[in-house]
Amino acid sequence: MNPFDYERAADAAGAVTTVTDRPDAVFLAGGTNLVDHLKLGVAEPDLVVDINRLELTEVEALDDGGLRIGAMVRNSDAAADPRIRRDYPMLSRALLSGASGQLRNAATMGGNLLQRTRCVYFQDTTTPCNKREPGSGCSAIGGYTRYHAILGASADCVATHPSDMAVALTALDATVVVLGATGERRIPVTELHRLPGDRPEQDTVLEHGELITALELPPPRPGASTYRKIRDRASYAFALVSVAARVDVDTAGPAPVIREAAIALGGVAHKPWRAGAAEAVLRGAEPNQETFLAAADAELEAAEPLAGNRFKVQMTRGAISTVLAELTAAAATTAESTTEDTHE
Ligand SMILES: Cc1cc2nc3c(=O)[nH]c(=O)nc-3n(C[C@H](O)[C@H](O)[C@H](O)COP(=O)(O)OP(=O)(O)OC[C@H]3O[C@@H](n4cnc5c(N)ncnc54)[C@H](O)[C@@H]3O)c2cc1C
Ligand code: SF4
Repeated sequence: MNPFDYERAADAAGAVTTVTDRPDAVFLAGGTNLVDHLKLGVAEPDLVVDINRLELTEVEALDDGGLRIGAMVRNSDAAADPRIRRDYPMLSRALLSGASGQLRNAATMGGNLLQRTRCVYFQDTTTPCNKREPGSGCSAIGGYTRYHAILGASADCVATHPSDMAVALTALDATVVVLGATGERRIPVTELHRLPGDRPEQDTVLEHGELITALELPPPRPGASTYRKIRDRASYAFALVSVAARVDVDTAGPAPVIREAAIALGGVAHKPWRAGAAEAVLRGAEPNQETFLAAADAELEAAEPLAGNRFKVQMTRGAISTVLAELTAAAATTAESTTEDTHE
């Protein structure tokens, strides 16, 4: 590990100024990702600014009926919050499916969103990696690609984004509140992470020194929702494929019709993948297996699997259709309720 300076920030504005002024400074939240990278030599900051004393630890109701979650709320606290469990069950489930209890107690909402890819070559400084060292090449292409992208990748990087929580936030249309040197700005979570293109070293649209202060959830929407994660082990493993979905079914007519659907996928792209093509097929359609598979196929039409992850196309197709079948059945039987969680 390279030597670095350490400062503990007293307030958010001060933290932003300190990091903005030093090109190689970074924020330290729970440290569960950053400290690993310091040890591996993947991150080599000259200053670490500890944000653990910042008062960004509240979950608060918003006037519009939504919820504001401070960036320093720990993942386990957010997952256990009664309002999140009741009104945004897919978020609670996504958080609980990530890492281990001990890690979730340390990990924060802001840090979880900004955790970096688990691509093994990114974490191995002896191998070329465009994300770690721009222009050095991509060792994953032609290498080990079981966990890599099938959608939206580029010739420069085929990595996936690892966060479960971010997939649920994407299906929920959350907003990321960010404080920078020139003030506050709000970014739809769907626009926070980038596809790799020819700049894979840039994970997000954040400027250096911008601090995530909160996540905002819109008011709860009707329908049934869940988060389903498929992984190599029952726990303590990153997603091969995951699906966050909410479906609202209109049961008033002679046959049920899907009124609205929101779907996001994890483990398949460089960012949490909003499945807009699948949603378009579902909207106004009858909920049946043919519709669900057509929705999955519409989304996967653009899939470009690699030698080591062709199975993911079929796995994603199956995961989308299974989740939709469960949710539409639940939504139809609980049409009166606002939100309903289903269980894996
Ligand atoms: C063994 C293991 C298994 C895991 N399994 C999973 C899993 O299955 N699913 C999953 O989703 N995650 C998993 N994780 C990842 C874990 O969830 C993340 O490490 C954690 O959420 C990161 O949060 P943190 O607060 O510790 O961030 P840190 O490590 O402190 O920071 C991560 C990055 O975010 C930046 N940062 C932190 N907070 C802010 C902020 N407020 N504003 C701007 N920048 C900020 C830091 O500078 C750093 O670059 C796993 C981790 C480990 C070690
Ligand atoms: S996939 Fe991306 S992160 Fe992995 S080696 Fe290639 S450039 Fe690096």
